[in-house]
Amino acid sequence: VPKVTVIGAGLAGSEAAWQIASHGVPVVLYEMRPVKKTPAHISDQFAELVCSNSLRANGLTNAVGVLKEEMRILNSLILRAADKHAVPAGGALAVDREGFSGEVTAILRNHPLIEVRNEELESLPEGIVVVATGPLTSPALSKHLQELTGEEYLYFYDAAAPIVEKDSIDMSKVYLASRYDKGEAAYLNCPMTEEEFNRFYEALITAESAPVKEFEKEIYFEGCMPIEVMAKRGRQTVLFGPMKPVGLVNPHTGELPFAVVQLRQDNAAGTLYNLVGFQTHLKWGEQKRVFSLIPGLENAEFVRYGVMHRNTFINSPSLLHPTYQFKRRDNLFFAGQMTGVEGYVESAASGLIAGLNAARYAKGLECLVPPPDTALGSMAQYITTADFKHFQPMNANFGLFPPLEEKIKNKKLKNEKIALRAIEKIQNFSQNIYNSTCK
Ligand code: FAD
Repeated sequence: VPKVTVIGAGLAGSEAAWQIASHGVPVVLYEMRPVKKTPAHISDQFAELVCSNSLRANGLTNAVGVLKEEMRILNSLILRAADKHAVPAGGALAVDREGFSGEVTAILRNHPLIEVRNEELESLPEGIVVVATGPLTSPALSKHLQELTGEEYLYFYDAAAPIVEKDSIDMSKVYLASRYDKGEAAYLNCPMTEEEFNRFYEALITAESAPVKEFEKEIYFEGCMPIEVMAKRGRQTVLFGPMKPVGLVNPHTGELPFAVVQLRQDNAAGTLYNLVGFQTHLKWGEQKRVFSLIPGLENAEFVRYGVMHRNTFINSPSLLHPTYQFKRRDNLFFAGQMTGVEGYVESAASGLIAGLNAARYAKGLECLVPPPDTALGSMAQYITTADFKHFQPMNANFGLFPPLEEKIKNKKLKNEKIALRAIEKIQNFSQNIYNSTCK
């Protein structure tokens, strides 16, 4: 069986290497630390948690909890190490970070099928490769990837606006329209009176921002301004910018509102909408408080808050298959934040599927995509079918799952059913991994 090269032993690369070796395929795992550092990692351990020691919610009431359970069923190393080194954290799975990373490192270093090389790779080698070099991919490799993908398809930061579930928008207050009725009405518009705008504006300019890391300061200079920074330049800046009402007559009143917030469909299924032009660096609690003042969003469920981060990711909707294979080179796989998934667990999860498929590719078996109604499958679908023109990273959430056949109003019950359906589907999927056909 040919060997697989995995580049980067972070959350995604560690999981990918483990999956590949567990399927009997040899791995060469490249990790540049400690020879070369990133601006955020501090140790020489694999799967280092660069910030919080929490892997977020455990249990089936939360989508990232469902994702964890699916990963446990698929023999995840990251989940095994996290469960073993868990520390008390209420409903969340938090870990002793050194115990966790130490365990992942020891298992991979001692695996007979894994050879570790502490080297930076500046370009992609031949053969079967998994690229999992993360949000802080070294500059030399980033440059090489930019040449491979095309400059406009590799990004160096996120500037993401918040995303809400369509189900939670008060449709009696918003209206569907495109500016000047041009083309198909594509936006949901949240209209504001002058009084509503003034209240919202005051809240926006006085809300608290998240602290900016030293290596993230450059982001604002790259032509991307948070909505709160823009607002602080004056009312007119936002009223002539993202909140301009011109050409958006409200059909409920027949009048032009004083200001508008536009919501754009975010996923192919039409279950998620983002706030257009509202990239923000506000703290998450503040986003909930301030953006809930927007008419129609009073009870909105935020599936993802706005973030502005240093990141390295590719335009997966244009470049990847849902198997995490590169469209233009089928023995090349991407995993982790690079693919546009967001978060420790999501990164490891994409590494799991990319690793599984790289091993199957090495063995001459067809590559697999988990069913779309699982957390793993819904993420793979999202990153490969989202609107490529506005692609931004995404974490696991219930809004990504296809709706149930039956209509259930109670959100808790609905999510419980979605979770149980996902677990059943992933159990079937896990059987297929070991019994399937050749390419
Ligand atoms: P990483 O875990 O970063 O792994 C990539 C690995 O590749 C690194 O070990 C790196 O040294 C190595 N590498 C890079 N270039 C090369 C090369 N050319 N050759 C060889 N090796 C290379 N997510 C959360 O869920 N919670 C948080 O609290 C959180 N905080 C974050 C804070 C910061 C500052 C950043 C940047 C991200 C944060 N994230 C957080 C987002 C994300 O979940 C993590 O970055 C996660 O580690 C991503 O996993 P990964 O495997 O894609 O990349």
